[in-house]
Amino acid sequence: MYPKLTDDLDDLPELLMATRAAAERALTSLDTRPVAARAPEAGAAPTPVAGIGTAGALTRFEERWAPWFSGSAGPRYFGFVTGGATPASVAGDWLTSAYDQNAASGGDSAAVDLERETIGWLAELFGLGTEHHGAFVTCATMSNFVGLAVAREWLGEQAGISVTHAGVRALGRIPVLSATPHSSVYKALSMLGIGRDELTLVPVLPEREAVDVDRLAEALAALDGQPAIVVANAGTVNTVDFDDLRAIAALKERFPFWLHVDGAFGAFAALSPRHRGLVDGLAEADSVCVDLHKWLNVPYDAAVQFTRRRDLQFAVFKNVAAYLPPPVGEPAYADLTPENSRRLRALPTWFSLVAYGREGHQEIVDRTTALAARLGKRLAGEPKLRLLAPVRLNVVCCTLADNPTQERVDTLIRAVTGSGEAVITPTAYHGTPGFRVAFSNWRTTESDVDRLCTVLTTAAEHVTDKGNPAPADDSPR
Ligand SMILES: *Cc1c(COP(=O)(O)O)cnc(C)c1O
Repeated sequence: MYPKLTDDLDDLPELLMATRAAAERALTSLDTRPVAARAPEAGAAPTPVAGIGTAGALTRFEERWAPWFSGSAGPRYFGFVTGGATPASVAGDWLTSAYDQNAASGGDSAAVDLERETIGWLAELFGLGTEHHGAFVTCATMSNFVGLAVAREWLGEQAGISVTHAGVRALGRIPVLSATPHSSVYKALSMLGIGRDELTLVPVLPEREAVDVDRLAEALAALDGQPAIVVANAGTVNTVDFDDLRAIAALKERFPFWLHVDGAFGAFAALSPRHRGLVDGLAEADSVCVDLHKWLNVPYDAAVQFTRRRDLQFAVFKNVAAYLPPPVGEPAYADLTPENSRRLRALPTWFSLVAYGREGHQEIVDRTTALAARLGKRLAGEPKLRLLAPVRLNVVCCTLADNPTQERVDTLIRAVTGSGEAVITPTAYHGTPGFRVAFSNWRTTESDVDRLCTVLTTAAEHVTDKGNPAPADDSPR
């Protein structure tokens, strides 16, 4: 055995304690470290030849990289929809690595049963019935990909074609309809060979990002009986708008289509009695995408996909070889997802749900939603700023009140991010440049909103017509 491996095996308990201490440093400094960081220019180190052991690697990491990692797991990272990691989910994540299970198929480990149990809990939390089967995937993009892959196979079934065998070309044109699809839907269409250009944008309701269901019905009617894919959105990234899922599902009585719902973070409205109505009808979907590394606050990378047609999903993803045991009972996860070998990605979620339950996770949703409302109210009273949309759930979409050019808005965002106090990210809403403040981190409190308000209003005061010179330490992207 390589000497450093022998040493590390002998010292394993001490090394784990040292790693624990490093993790503690990372987690306890979240409140004080700059929320955004950018490493100084440094060339890549040469490939290590003689190893220095785990203790050496730990020291090297903490010197060379850790100071330049962002505080994205912390309470004032408001970019994108980020979320942090609950203590229980971190514990689960560590043990995922320690046990290093391959949750591809059962037979020699209960790991897949744990995944199945966790999927069942998630289905219940999101109000899905037992007819929905699910699996863990790496992210909402992959979840959308899997849902749309099953949709593609379903379109084949309608035409008497097995797409998994004949290929997507056998289908000809594939109508895909959506009002405000996430960029990952286009990416999934690209990966599936359907093509980004096949997506037709359906008009939205006035002043909204939600689909105009009457216009959707017209678009479906124009297909003259040709089966289609409808991607409904439950929580758009800019303004967290929700399509009327029940009304869309009702159109199935008149038109043949596969209903995929992208509820990457919006599906969490189901946890909150106050907001549950926003996802009414979710259970009618043929496939559903939900991210877990966002509002569930488990570490990257974790999302879940659900579908009613596991038979078609199996047809798409099955992986048969003589050396692989045939599945007994339930199909193997490797036969249902893009990955073959799979990390036991369910364990952090299992830990967090056991540790905090439905109540705890509802509290996170309710609190972060209330914080978004609080910020929205504060900013609505700021003369230099203007809300671009009402705060529907957990995102505040805002811009400068006067002359919100791209340059001026970018300057504002750079000033906030450059302060180290908070990260916010840019967007454009109906053509107007603006910024988003997204709440989803379990640590965020009212005092974090107040700190953001202070930097934001100060920065807004100081945006000149030309835009301020950019601070040296600006956006991490
Ligand atoms: C974040 C998001 C995605 C993509 O999520 P990833 O986990 O980054 O792949 C898809 N749809 C919506 C609505 C999202 O908010």
